[in-house]
Amino acid sequence: MIPNMRLWLHRRRYPGRYARLESLLHNQALSPEALGDYQREAFAALVRHATAHVPYYAQRLGGWEDRPESLPLLTKEAVRTHLDDLLNRHAERSQTGLGHTGGSTGQPLAFWYDEIKHEEMRAGMMRGFMMSGWRPGQKVLYLWGARQDVGKGGVFGHRLADAIAGERTVAALEYSEERLAGWTRLIRRWRPVLLYGYASALTQLARHVIDQRQAMPDSLLGAYSTAEMLHDDQRALMREAFGCRVFNQYGCREVPNIAWECRHGGMHVMSDLVQLESAHEDGENRLLVTSLTNRLMPFIRYDLGDSGRLLEGECPCGSPFPLMEMGMCRQNDLILTPGGRRLHPAAFNRLLYGLTQIRQYQWRQETPERMVLNLVCPERLPDAVAGELHAALRREADPAMTLEVRYVQEIPRTASGKHRFVIGLG
Ligand SMILES: [Zn+2]
Repeated sequence: MIPNMRLWLHRRRYPGRYARLESLLHNQALSPEALGDYQREAFAALVRHATAHVPYYAQRLGGWEDRPESLPLLTKEAVRTHLDDLLNRHAERSQTGLGHTGGSTGQPLAFWYDEIKHEEMRAGMMRGFMMSGWRPGQKVLYLWGARQDVGKGGVFGHRLADAIAGERTVAALEYSEERLAGWTRLIRRWRPVLLYGYASALTQLARHVIDQRQAMPDSLLGAYSTAEMLHDDQRALMREAFGCRVFNQYGCREVPNIAWECRHGGMHVMSDLVQLESAHEDGENRLLVTSLTNRLMPFIRYDLGDSGRLLEGECPCGSPFPLMEMGMCRQNDLILTPGGRRLHPAAFNRLLYGLTQIRQYQWRQETPERMVLNLVCPERLPDAVAGELHAALRREADPAMTLEVRYVQEIPRTASGKHRFVIGLG
């Protein structure tokens, strides 16, 4: 199907999505000041709405002083225990479904959604993709790992809609050579304009493409990495393999479209859709997000379990959306040494730099003293290299720590399909 025909059909099928996209593109043309005003008004309107219509907030938002900082945080634990009270009391139950997320810590979380929220998410994704030069109607291949999403009808829509939209989804649940070869063939044949997937899935694919010396089609404009930390070495590998720009995207299933990277490398907070705060606590900058558009199940000052900070200044791309920087840490990713230090996971990722034979790895702290390094690796590391790793661990982390290197066929991922590089006791 030619793109213009597809776009025409797609617009007819999803008029609400395209109308929403128009309004989002309008917001993108506002000045930073006008956007700030828009955000403040949207936040106040959301708080008024939640206080009036959502039982959980009716009990808790009494003392609203027009300052976001005066409001309590919403924790994941509260979402788990007060799920029914977080639903708008006027919600049409027959139109409302429960979505699930595995969560980076492996603890599942449920949230309410409906068609309006879905369309809102899709419109936000379209605007985000457009920052790369992509245009509606052009093909997107999703490499998706979340078990709950893969199956009939694909990830984000329905089978027929997928064809009209120029979208395809492959289940990126396992990375066997056979599957990687299959995805490579699909990309060469189908010629998508964008790839969208977990950093780990795109990295595995990139490594396969390079190892097999496969040429990628010149249709590719961008590879979007989402849902996991994107490390610099992964980004470099994808750029080399796919021959296109690599973009980071930040969001979660319950609050999508938090930030999108532009062609200048700026990570822009979509401040007409969310309000993002960075709260300094326990030595880390915790990100708190408020969804400005979700009236069904308001998330106000939601503690995502991610770290990062907001940046001053403007981006050369001219976007009015403010800039942010992701932190490397997620909760429970810290390593707690026997001596009581808390170490950042980046320190452990760094120990493996240059060991390109490693396909996948995971550091796992089993007791304060005992560290296990699980490796997916075609052959064992030379003894000297393993010895140097042990020495580096003792030197940089704690002299009392021991290291065991285990060679495994695969590294299990979290229920949502994410790969965790470091699992600590901190
Ligand atoms: Zn920018």
